[in-house]
Amino acid sequence: MSKKDYYGVLGVSKSDSKDAIKKVYKKLALKYHPDRAPEEKKEEYEEKFKEISEAYAILSDEDKRKQYDSLGHGAFDQRYSQEDIFRGSDISSILRDLFGSSFSGGSGESNFGEDLQYGLTIDFEEAAFGCEKEIEIKRNILCDLCEGTGAEDKRLEKCNKCNGEGRVAVNLKTHFGIFRQAIICSKCAGDGNIPKQKCRECNGKGIISKRKKIKIGILQGIDNGQILRVGGEGNAIKYGENGDLLIVINVRPHKFFTREGDDIYLEFPISFSQAALGCKVSVPTLSGSTKIKIPAGTESGTILRLRGGGVKNVSAYRIGDQFINLKVKTPKKLSRRQKKLFMELESS
Ligand SMILES: [Zn+2]
Ligand SMILES: [Zn+2]
Repeated sequence: MSKKDYYGVLGVSKSDSKDAIKKVYKKLALKYHPDRAPEEKKEEYEEKFKEISEAYAILSDEDKRKQYDSLGHGAFDQRYSQEDIFRGSDISSILRDLFGSSFSGGSGESNFGEDLQYGLTIDFEEAAFGCEKEIEIKRNILCDLCEGTGAEDKRLEKCNKCNGEGRVAVNLKTHFGIFRQAIICSKCAGDGNIPKQKCRECNGKGIISKRKKIKIGILQGIDNGQILRVGGEGNAIKYGENGDLLIVINVRPHKFFTREGDDIYLEFPISFSQAALGCKVSVPTLSGSTKIKIPAGTESGTILRLRGGGVKNVSAYRIGDQFINLKVKTPKKLSRRQKKLFMELESS
């Protein structure tokens, strides 16, 4: 058995709640359940599945978790047998919830294809004002030649491995007998039927990978790191619904502006005399430029606010402000006349 730290195995932290850990376990169990392993990765998945199940069994049990935290991995491992570890855990019921529908022939609950992720980089202004982008993704779709049946003439016959059940009863070779259950038939992938003659386009899988261009409407006010979910543009699966496409937004930095929430910030240099005497200057804004009045005697670091000069909130009708941080440039070289003037100022 693995000597890896249980928290590390699940990728959770010591302060995470039982519920949070359960969520993570469900996700990982869905991913690594041996039923779902590609043929060449069966062993790897089974090993991983054991690892996460063991980690979950410990961390979901308050007493065992406490023991584990205080004893450390090595001592805990010696003291607890595999039976102890899984005693009383709710893993069986979680797995029934997760996989129950596919075991009972796909009634009721729907199956979803994988979500896809796409990183999209846009300009600062595009994020501020919204835009439309066209992207190209590669994703799984139902084969159009056989309409997803896997048979070019669409004629199917009963799978002889599972006798049309779509699943076969096996003993999963794990340390815990509780996973003796029906698994998806590897020959028909759970369909119960196989094509009489395999489709040449998809080799009988019913699914092919294809590129597609998609237009994405980027909402006004979207910010760096936000994720747009485009429903149904993820991977397709047979007898289920498409996954979603997740667009992860990356906003290029702006030449002048930085953004915090809906507000934007600008550092604006003014000369010593502009600061001392006051003036009107033209400053860049998101929509172009505007004139602002700088009062006489302005100090470096003074911040002026242009109400409504920021970004429209992405989900509410609210507009941020623009803040202008005035930086007074101290003259590096002074003429004799300037020096005399400054000295007079100093003594006044
Ligand atoms: Zn096909
Ligand atoms: Zn079968």
